Amino acid sequence: FVGSGTVSAEEAERTFIAIKPDGVQRGLIADIIARFERKGYKLVAVKILVPTKEFAGKHYAEHEGRPFFEGLTDFLSSGPVLAMVWEGQGVVTYGRKMIGATKPLESAPGTIRGDFGIQVGRNIIHGSDSPDSAKKEIGLWFTPEDLVSYGLDIHKWVYEK
Ligand code: UDP
Repeated sequence: FVGSGTVSAEEAERTFIAIKPDGVQRGLIADIIARFERKGYKLVAVKILVPTKEFAGKHYAEHEGRPFFEGLTDFLSSGPVLAMVWEGQGVVTYGRKMIGATKPLESAPGTIRGDFGIQVGRNIIHGSDSPDSAKKEIGLWFTPEDLVSYGLDIHKWVYEK
C-alpha cells in the first residue's frame, strides 16, 4: 500500500545495490544498510546469494572484453553477495555519492569505498549508475514480486509532502 508521505510505486525511484563478497566477508552489511536507512531511503528488496560466474557476467555484461572482466566475474561469484533494492528521491545518483568513486583511493572519506576499501578490485559495493541500469539490474536480480511496497510513517519527517 502507499502510506503517508510516500510516492506511488510507479513514481518511486529505485536503485540496485549489492554488497560484494569482500564487503560481506568483512562484516560491513549492517554498516552499509544503516547508511542508506539513516539517509531516509527505504529497503524494498533484499537477499543473500552466491551468484554463478555466468550470472556475474550478465550483471557486468557492459564490461565484457575488458582486461578486468574475468577477475571481476570470478570475484563476484566467489562468495555471498547481498543484493538489495533501495527506494527514494534521488536514490540512484545519491546512492552513487554514498558509495564513492570506483577506485577506493580516489573516493572521499565518508563514502563507503573511501571508508572501507583500498583497491579497485575489492571496492566493497556495487550501485546502479543510472535509472536505466537500475531498471535492468533490478530485473536481473529480482522478480517483481520480490519488491515490497509499503509505507513508512517516518517519511513525513523525511519528505515535505
Ligand atoms: N573494476 C576493476 N578494475 C578496473 C575497473 C573496474 O576491477 O580497472 C571493477 C570494480 O570492482 C568496479 C567494477 O569493475 O566496481 C565495475 O566497474 P565500473 O567502471 O562499472 O565501476 P563502478 O560502477 O562499480 O564504480
